Amino acid sequence: MELSTMLEYQKLDMALMRLENEVRQSQATKLYVSNKAVLTNAQEAVIKQNRDAGEMIQQMQALIAEYESVEKELKEAEDAVSDIEDAEAAEFYFRNVQKLINRLKNLSSEISKTSGKIVELNQNHAAMMNAGKEAKKKHLVYKEAYEAERDKYMPQATALQQQIAEAEKNCSEEFLTVYKRIRKLKKIPVIVPLVDGHSCGGCFMEVAGDALVALGSKPFVECPSCGRILYKD
Ligand SMILES: [Zn+2]
Repeated sequence: MELSTMLEYQKLDMALMRLENEVRQSQATKLYVSNKAVLTNAQEAVIKQNRDAGEMIQQMQALIAEYESVEKELKEAEDAVSDIEDAEAAEFYFRNVQKLINRLKNLSSEISKTSGKIVELNQNHAAMMNAGKEAKKKHLVYKEAYEAERDKYMPQATALQQQIAEAEKNCSEEFLTVYKRIRKLKKIPVIVPLVDGHSCGGCFMEVAGDALVALGSKPFVECPSCGRILYKD
């Protein structure tokens, strides 16, 4: 295939790239993208907070159940105080009651700690819900602006895409395969001239003898270093 066909293809492709880049770099797109990140972040945080709240409530229920059971044990011990017959039994009784009272104190402090955490979680949850709501409101506005921006470029982009599709018909399969692979790697421009008779115009590495020889008979070779399409001026 002709060099001019390859270069024409690249010219169209790069024009489309520039256009896509303009849309991407526009204020409308940037606002839309960054706010969408805020929205996603808030949504994920709320999901996590809901999960954490579920776990904390279970913890709280278990603590309360334990508290009630220890409280009952203490009450039973106190009711049995009249059964104490000797000093040994009295000592056992006091040790047992003291132990139960200590457990109650510990449980009570754990309950109040957990309760504090739940309050804090609730506050964070409310703040995150608010942030999410705000971002969602903005999302609708920004989305509209972004789509308007995109639509502005659409006719030009569509025309270029059609021209590119037309140009592809004149390109060899081999060229298109290499071109698209290098484009995907964002090595732009994909097609570069040989400079000073022996270096790649893209990566500026020396091109080995074999590739140079091949350039004499082939329309292009792939740069052995960067893979770009090399041609001789
Ligand atoms: Zn190269």
